[in-house]
Amino acid sequence: MSKLRFDVVQGAFKKKAVEVEAPALRPSLYFGDLVFNREKMRKYLDIRTYDALIDCIDNGKPLDMETADKVADGMKTWALGHGVTHITHWFQPLNDLTAEKHDSLLEYDQKGGMIEAFNGKSLIQQEPDASSFPSGGLRATFEARGYTAWDPTSPVFIQEDTLCIPTVFFSYTGESLDYKTPLKKALKAVGDAALPICQLFDPKVRKVYSYLGWEQEYFLVDEDLFAARPDLMLTGRTLMGHAASKNQQLDDHYFGAIPSRVAAFMRELEIEGHKLGIPLKTRHNEVAPNQFELAPVYGDGNLANDQNLMIMNTMNKVARKHGFIVLLHEKPFDGINGSGKHNNWSLGTDTGTPLLAPGKDAMGNLQFVTFFVNVLAAVQRHNALLKASIASATNAHRLGANEAPPAIVSAFLGRAMTEALHKLLDCPSDTPIEIAGKTGKSIGIVEIPQVFIDNTDRNRTSPFAFTGNRFEFRAVGSSANCAGAMTVLNAAVAEQLLLFKKDLDKELSTGKDLNIAVMDTLKPIIREILDVICFDGNGYTPEWQREAARRGLDTETSVPEMIKAFTEPSSVRLFTSLGIHTRKELEARNEIKWEIYSKKIQIEARVMGRMAINHIIPAALTYQNLLLKNVSVMKDIDPDGYRSQAAVPLELIGRISTLVSDIRTKVEAMVEARKKANALQDEYEKARAYHAIAESLNTIRKPIDKLEEIVDDNLWPMPKYRELLFIN
Ligand code: ADP
Ligand code: MG
Repeated sequence: MSKLRFDVVQGAFKKKAVEVEAPALRPSLYFGDLVFNREKMRKYLDIRTYDALIDCIDNGKPLDMETADKVADGMKTWALGHGVTHITHWFQPLNDLTAEKHDSLLEYDQKGGMIEAFNGKSLIQQEPDASSFPSGGLRATFEARGYTAWDPTSPVFIQEDTLCIPTVFFSYTGESLDYKTPLKKALKAVGDAALPICQLFDPKVRKVYSYLGWEQEYFLVDEDLFAARPDLMLTGRTLMGHAASKNQQLDDHYFGAIPSRVAAFMRELEIEGHKLGIPLKTRHNEVAPNQFELAPVYGDGNLANDQNLMIMNTMNKVARKHGFIVLLHEKPFDGINGSGKHNNWSLGTDTGTPLLAPGKDAMGNLQFVTFFVNVLAAVQRHNALLKASIASATNAHRLGANEAPPAIVSAFLGRAMTEALHKLLDCPSDTPIEIAGKTGKSIGIVEIPQVFIDNTDRNRTSPFAFTGNRFEFRAVGSSANCAGAMTVLNAAVAEQLLLFKKDLDKELSTGKDLNIAVMDTLKPIIREILDVICFDGNGYTPEWQREAARRGLDTETSVPEMIKAFTEPSSVRLFTSLGIHTRKELEARNEIKWEIYSKKIQIEARVMGRMAINHIIPAALTYQNLLLKNVSVMKDIDPDGYRSQAAVPLELIGRISTLVSDIRTKVEAMVEARKKANALQDEYEKARAYHAIAESLNTIRKPIDKLEEIVDDNLWPMPKYRELLFIN
């Protein structure tokens, strides 16, 4: 190992866990301290203002400006008590990050002094310069007007010295420029579509909620090692690096003991998350070395998504205190598992009934089966769109590879539900659906378990799996905003529920009993989903790819092509009929997706080229020089016999020459391809060109990784996988 590299690795290895100061109180007592939640509202607002705000949050009733002023004033008083000096409208532009522009609270008091001021107007709406956010040609730069508007359903929170106001972001002409706006519309659509169906089963239901419980996977890497890898710093992933001799083959990391430096980081992250009102619940090691996961208790889709973004921001801040960098990239290291963000999703009523879990009686079970089947029908109809919703340059590494999920969206039901659906098809429509093994009852013909505890009955290769009381959409990328996927899923289910209700009403109008009408409406849908979307086998096999294509499922693997699903007629119909997106918005969003795709690959390609030429080839040639000297000395000593004596160095010299020229040729070709791609004006064509470039990066990587195996370890210019992955 070179002296420099040795120092960095040694330094990282010797770091000790940072002491985390334990808060004086129990978590339940400081939970939500930094959030203007209902408890703070009660404390800081007068009763009329409080009631008006709650009416606004729960029922969407608009606030008048006078009340908004009072709300802002209460927020200010609370925030000043926490040392807040600034406010920001916090929003979710289309580049998977959050954006904030801070304004100080300071204003002239018109008496020659300064005061802290905050009013309803600046709470409700602001006009950040939108020209620098991706807008897909929706808003030309010369009319760079974008507005942010307060989302009262997501509570205001404090980050360091700043009061953050969750907002939606839209253009001068009213098109949404963010992830939050369509998500909110889709959540409302699915709740509204589900409500009348629920009311057939229980007239007391007034509202249906859509829930999200995300599981965030991530890697930690020591910050000094990170800083020694230009690829990690600039692209978030290693563009080169030979696999370490040991990686995840022993399965010794998953659920293993958490290393002390990491445990300290997790502890502090949890404290910060809890103060922000994020109900963080689980923390554990993941499959790959240095890979971890955290997950909260699930909640309302909009808030849960905000909280995911909040924690993604907080993670890196906390990590730096512990000498770590958090890698949220989907595939930071080749050859070991990548990171995803499972989106656990379900529906539930305001009366506390989960709609995707078995019910209390046969009617409750029928309601469950109704929602269960309709969700699957929605996923089937929009499988290509769902895949498009999670397609990105970074997630492409997971989609293509043999790790959950494959690039085909299918659904896994588990044995019990598959059997139950088959039986339902064979039985008369009035057959009750019983809970299996219920004591004191004769065994029913169609049965489902009360709780699904069989953990082995879980198909890890399935992108959309039923897990007992929810579906788990596993294809979402670790760095993504969940809203992309959740907007599509909720919208698709809303559309399907509306279609179902229409057909059900027809059956009911003939005078059938509810249970029979429901079953008669469900049966053709069940038949179809069992034939098409449901798949319990291994999703990684080539046979499945052929079979999926035969079934008519989308098997596209190229991200720029996948994205096109958003403007297919079925998608346009879906989004416009529910009022979630206009066609213009959909087209603009595709432009943005292609643009971001191209830019990400462009950066990777540049970094790859420079590292190959400026780091790798020089190291290889230095080593080759050493070998040449060795051969030359041998020749001096033994001019006749040196060739056999120097067989090894000679062979290495030859291999290095071959590999170096291979790298050089491929980099040159890649640079040429980039020039051609950059000249393309059309974003789709450009993204296609960059897709080919993305594939070529792997072919450059191969000879580089071979060189890593040959070249003197002393000369290798950057930390290797074994150093990046096993230090904590
Ligand atoms: P796993 O065993 O799948 O890794 P985790 O405990 O890590 O499970 O995460 C499961 C996630 O699913 C948590 O965020 C949890 O709150 C969430 N969850 C549980 N039940 C539901 C539900 N009915 N709807 C939505 N999310 C749920
Ligand atoms: Mg988990």
